[in-house]
Amino acid sequence: MTPLVSVILTSYNKPLTIANAIESVLNQTYSNWELFIMDDNSSGGIVDIIKKYLTDSRISYFNSRVLDSERYKTTRYATLINEAISKSRGEYLTYLTDDNIFLPNRLETMVYYLQHPNIDIVYSNQLVKWVDERTGRQREGVRRTQGNLKNAAGKVDHCSVMHTRLIAEEVFKKYGSYWDDHPDNWNFGDAVFWNRLTEFKSFYPIRKVLDIAWKGDDSFQKLYTYMPKTLPDGTLVRGLSSDVYIIDNQQRRRISPQAFQQLHYQSYRVVRIPDPFLFKYKEGDVIDSQIFKDSKLFPNHKLIQSNENSSLYYIQNNKKHLFRNEKALQDFHFHQQTPVILASSLLNQISDGATIEELKATTTFLPEGVLYKCENSFYICLNNCLHAIEEVVAKKLNQPVTDPVIIHPQLLLHFKQGEPIGW
Ligand code: UDP
Ligand code: MG
Repeated sequence: MTPLVSVILTSYNKPLTIANAIESVLNQTYSNWELFIMDDNSSGGIVDIIKKYLTDSRISYFNSRVLDSERYKTTRYATLINEAISKSRGEYLTYLTDDNIFLPNRLETMVYYLQHPNIDIVYSNQLVKWVDERTGRQREGVRRTQGNLKNAAGKVDHCSVMHTRLIAEEVFKKYGSYWDDHPDNWNFGDAVFWNRLTEFKSFYPIRKVLDIAWKGDDSFQKLYTYMPKTLPDGTLVRGLSSDVYIIDNQQRRRISPQAFQQLHYQSYRVVRIPDPFLFKYKEGDVIDSQIFKDSKLFPNHKLIQSNENSSLYYIQNNKKHLFRNEKALQDFHFHQQTPVILASSLLNQISDGATIEELKATTTFLPEGVLYKCENSFYICLNNCLHAIEEVVAKKLNQPVTDPVIIHPQLLLHFKQGEPIGW
């Protein structure tokens, strides 16, 4: 009698690795398994790749059809896993992600240990390969088992575990769900589930490498590290696709490639973020050539100049703020930026805001989109209110941490301080 193993593979837009993940299940030395491919409404190509494998009767495919605008509402892979568990029949349950592969003896080895009456959860070593997509360079290391674990959170990867269905049912009885798909768990949904499991049984170690994880630039963990809960206005962002957006009045506005050039945006400022986090922002008006015809469409956080005189303005909160003089421009580090030339007729339609004066102890207005530093702390300004920002977060947002605008401690006293921007 060989027990049935249910393998739950969650998939979202990993065209380079999804096929390897599926094949690694097909290549198992142990054959009594069922595979649930839970695709989270990936774009076209992925579905075509998956469909090729559906001739094997052990493989089932489900597409969540989730809307992009709804993606952030739950920890998606946990939602998909819960659905799969309720559809599955295996005596043992195990998890795979679309950027990981099982070694051929993984199921066989884990089933062997799980048949021991006292063992309900097993975990194994994992080979981790980090790939730097720009240089193509690879680094690898082994994530080792750490003995019999009564607390496995943060110590064991999603793809290195197998457990009995019985214990999953214990979890369900207590919590009303298997995995906790609350959106706060995006970065550690597995750890939250391990905590539920270890209330009943410990994790038994198998000291062999049984799976390989690929970590690239798209990896969630990497993208979410030091990511603030909300993105400050003016941040340039990009998800998995090549579309670039700017966060403007807390909406995401796509910038057409042509407008990106015309408005002198800089690619090195674009922050890579996970799709669910991007789609959380409502989509606003696109930024394309139309902005040169309708002043209401012009984006904030831009340096502009009239086509009729040399006056320079900064657009912020949908108002234009005149720079008093060259010194004001330099003090806030705008002098190296190339201004966008606007027809004066259009410029006149944008209402006037406070003038940007030279930076003095008595300054009462600070432009946004600038990184400030006072003593050892960094700040950004939103609605003329200073928000402390941790250096790691500022770096994550591609802010110029090596060249901030230095402000005097006394100046800090004149300004309201808002919620710090942490992660
Ligand atoms: N995932 C998903 N829906 C999404 C984004 C991700 O189901 O909108 C799945 C993805 O297929 C993967 C898991 O969540 O199986 C973890 O994502 P990823 O591999 O990017 O994260 P990491 O390996 O960095 O933890
Ligand atoms: Mg992954």
